[in-house]
Amino acid sequence: MQDSPGRDTRIALGLALTLRHDGHGSVADDLTDPAGLTAWVTDHPGLVPDGEGFTADAAALAAVRDVRAAARALFARAVRPGEPSPADAARLLPVPEAVRRLNEAAARTPTVPVLAWTGTAAPVVRAAPAEGARTDLAAALAQAVIGFLAGPDRQRLRACHAPRCVRYFLKEHPRQQWCKPSCGNRARVARHQERHRRTA
Ligand SMILES: [Zn+2]
Repeated sequence: MQDSPGRDTRIALGLALTLRHDGHGSVADDLTDPAGLTAWVTDHPGLVPDGEGFTADAAALAAVRDVRAAARALFARAVRPGEPSPADAARLLPVPEAVRRLNEAAARTPTVPVLAWTGTAAPVVRAAPAEGARTDLAAALAQAVIGFLAGPDRQRLRACHAPRCVRYFLKEHPRQQWCKPSCGNRARVARHQERHRRTA
């Protein structure tokens, strides 16, 4: 087993997974309106400093969707030579454009590094808003995505290609192929049916 993923990883994956399979054959999007974004932030306490009582507006939604589009384009880049998630494989931003947008969003909140070193754990550094800087949700998300992409967890990122699944996930062990056991079961059933069709 690997170490549990860090905060940046959890945030970056969480953002990417707001595009998800709806259980009926198409892709659902949790971030289609400001209320959806407010609900997502509320469901992820600690996501942004001052996240409690956060209410999204149209501008915040647009900025976060922009960061998500950049993140998913770079997730697709990160899983190469594997195939990206089929949810948006046909409409991915070009990589340089995604990098530019991510960096621009991250720059909206200037940060300073803050060291934490407690107990027997390894020291960790995290970015905190610089003094006087306003905390911007899209900036905080973009910074987490940058931390994830530049960190060691990126190498474990995979897209699940079980039938109907569109999830990105972190491989927990070397032979893992699917995001969860139920996906593995569906994939095996589909392969079996495919073989059966070909030999029938
Ligand atoms: Zn899956």
